[in-house]
Amino acid sequence: MRIDIMTLFPEMCNSVLGESIIGRARETGKVEINTVDIRDYTEDKHRRVDDKPYGGGMGMVMQAEPVYACYKALCEKTGTAPHLIYMTPQGKTLTQERVKELSGLDNIAILCGHYEGIDERVIEELHPEEISVGDYVLTGGELPALILADSISRMLPGVLSGEKCYTEESHYNSLLEYPQYTHPSEWHGRAVPEVLLSGHHANIDAWRREQSLKRTSERRPDMLEKAELTEKDKIYLSALG
Ligand code: SAM
Repeated sequence: MRIDIMTLFPEMCNSVLGESIIGRARETGKVEINTVDIRDYTEDKHRRVDDKPYGGGMGMVMQAEPVYACYKALCEKTGTAPHLIYMTPQGKTLTQERVKELSGLDNIAILCGHYEGIDERVIEELHPEEISVGDYVLTGGELPALILADSISRMLPGVLSGEKCYTEESHYNSLLEYPQYTHPSEWHGRAVPEVLLSGHHANIDAWRREQSLKRTSERRPDMLEKAELTEKDKIYLSALG
């Protein structure tokens, strides 16, 4: 899969994308993630890409043409029309379900706004999918774009050590994950639950399932409506009260 991040601040993205699991996935060709500098597509001799908002008011607005030219150049370069996503607090909130769907695409372009946002006319012209990372406002779309690129990349084959790494995690099946522990078996007087030291895999699986149900019902009961629950799960949950 190829992901192109269209931004005014490519270095902000590159420093994150070179690290850890995503850095290794890029190095080994499991995913291609590029940053594209929107400033390269302005005709302004001072490389300006923003201007004052019509109607007055605070801040600056990114101009339509550099964004448009940047996306069109990307289409030409890749020989396709990458699925365009604009990161915006006005978009649909990102979910694991949408991440999973997006991980099935071959080509994605992520557009980062900055300042007061982007001239509405280029949004109307390119008609991107609009995605938000939550009901709060950040200074720019770079952090949201990195969140999206990271969440998609970790679902691609070979990026994590196996599918179980994400299928058993929070949100994949509308449940939160069970608690995790590592060495030492006792820390600050707190012991690791006995069953995890037993080596009895069926009991461990059953304990983890119950913990996962308990956590979800305590912290995010709304999620249980979508979860696939067995009769045993339902009995366990109703006993929790
Ligand atoms: N004036 C815009 C508004 O009120 O809707 C907010 C602009 S924000 C300061 C600048 C840029 O940051 C946006 O264009 C967007 O790309 C990005 N951004 C900020 N918050 C975001 C969020 N919650 N999700 C996704 N992108 C966000």
